[in-house]
Amino acid sequence: NAGGSLNFIEQIVEEDIAAGKNGGRVHTRFPPEPNGYLHIGHAKSICLNFGLADKYSGQTNLRFDDTNPVTEDTEYVDSIKNDVRWLGFEWENEYYASDYFDQLYRFAETLIQKGLAYVDDSTAEEIAAQKGTPTEPGRMNQYRDRSVDQNLDLFRRMKAGEFSDGSKVLRAKVDMASPNMQLRDPIMYRIKHAHHHRTGDTWCIYPMYDFAHGQSDAIEHITHSLCTLEFEVHRPLYEWFIQQLDIFPSRQIEFARLNLTYTVMSKRKLKQLVEEGHVSGWDDPRMPTIAGIRRRGYTPASIREFCDRIGIAKRDNLIDVGLLEFCIREELNKTTPRVMAVLDEKPLRLVITNYELGREEELNIENNPEEETMTYRRVPFSREVYIERDDFMENPPKKFFRLFPGGMVRLKGAYIIKCDEVVKDNAGEIIELRCSYIPESRSGSDTSGINVKGTIHWVSVPHAVEAEVRLYDRLFSVENPAADEREFRELLNPNSLEVVRAFVEPALVEAARSGSQTNFQFMRKGYFILDSDSTAERPVFNRTVTLKDGWAK
Ligand code: ATP
Ligand code: MG
Ligand code: MG
Repeated sequence: NAGGSLNFIEQIVEEDIAAGKNGGRVHTRFPPEPNGYLHIGHAKSICLNFGLADKYSGQTNLRFDDTNPVTEDTEYVDSIKNDVRWLGFEWENEYYASDYFDQLYRFAETLIQKGLAYVDDSTAEEIAAQKGTPTEPGRMNQYRDRSVDQNLDLFRRMKAGEFSDGSKVLRAKVDMASPNMQLRDPIMYRIKHAHHHRTGDTWCIYPMYDFAHGQSDAIEHITHSLCTLEFEVHRPLYEWFIQQLDIFPSRQIEFARLNLTYTVMSKRKLKQLVEEGHVSGWDDPRMPTIAGIRRRGYTPASIREFCDRIGIAKRDNLIDVGLLEFCIREELNKTTPRVMAVLDEKPLRLVITNYELGREEELNIENNPEEETMTYRRVPFSREVYIERDDFMENPPKKFFRLFPGGMVRLKGAYIIKCDEVVKDNAGEIIELRCSYIPESRSGSDTSGINVKGTIHWVSVPHAVEAEVRLYDRLFSVENPAADEREFRELLNPNSLEVVRAFVEPALVEAARSGSQTNFQFMRKGYFILDSDSTAERPVFNRTVTLKDGWAK
């Protein structure tokens, strides 16, 4: 959607407005089925539907497409509402397709009365076999010739619960020879003696998607009904029902669904990952769900930006998850304070021998060089600090600008230090570095005249807060698991979660706990967010994304 040009859906909408269609009104809907949590693909649809209404001063309904009693649940309804709001959108009306069951039933009787629907006693297998193939016409059976009275009687008895599941269906009488398979007498109603999360046991017949979706659009006077490409072949049927019932002519427009590398987007598969314990829940930070992405540390604005950048296409494609990561990195770079955290099971203790025992000072360290008006925070410094084990090498290669015996580095925001002595335990493992500092080299008032090439981060030992840090990586180890022939659970990345111990600045834990700041850049390590698993004793941080794209192409 670069350069302010219109995408193809906006073009259609503007043409409709210019032609005075629907009095220039734009009314969209977002129609999730409450059978799982929303994912990033839904975010695309949400941004599209709500964005279109915003742009053309229209309205958007949130409609729960709850026509399948078996798979749906109020837990999902609540999570969906929460996620849409979190993304920054507010719906005009909250509707449920199940509220239209009476109306839909009357529509069905209308079609029966017009001779356009019939009750069929065939089994599912027989119906499938009679449908034919795209190259040969289907076969009409004897039930197709039932009279209007017979059909009305049977349909009412279906509703009354006289028949068992699967023993009868109501079908639209369209065209068994149509080259469009969807028009070969599609099923409108099936018998299902099942409890529905909203209508309870009132109904034992339930409408199919094709006899619920378009009718719900019409009932709500939706002007533009946006759906994904696989429904393109359903459009003639969508229009046929509207025409035969003479109801509000909503217009269906299809767009390409979002597919993202290294993940799956099918609710069925995501649900399996949750139920089989491959992830900790729908909100596991590795999941492509809105709840997971939120817990990972993404912001609503970064997701909206992503949806904007990928735009709206007419052909299916696979989007690089790197683009999503780029969007959050861009935002967090501008908004998060740089803080220091040493992520190491065994950090290296550095003792500054010429810094008096018991002395402490508070350094003023800038939060973010990207800020327009610089802000600072107080960081305690003392005689002993932790550094990353990686930031020291006993036998460094050339161009190693961090610490080594006899070498000098700057401790970020503090002093220049020199490594004088390496202390090892009996097994030969380094347990401590004994260093000296240059008192005149304090950051901000350095008069030492010494130039060092390296700056490393650190945390004061007596002030450090121990934390758990969760380093997330891609959930799947192949780019397009959905297109892979192998079983999708075999493609999971076994290293998608690494848990490490960390020592962090005390101020950031305070800020995170108070809620005043929850996203951070851990200097040189990436962007992190406080996780809800944190306890009073031990904060937990999730890595949102690394600083740079670590995945070479
Ligand atoms: P699934 O196949 O995973 O169950 P669905 O399409 O059945 O997904 P719904 O709850 O029916 O899920 O989707 C609600 C809306 O979101 C629909 O209009 C659908 O077209 C849209 N949507 C779902 N997945 C995507 C996606 N990957 N990209 C864009 N839009 C999507
Ligand atoms: Mg579905
Ligand atoms: Mg659906």
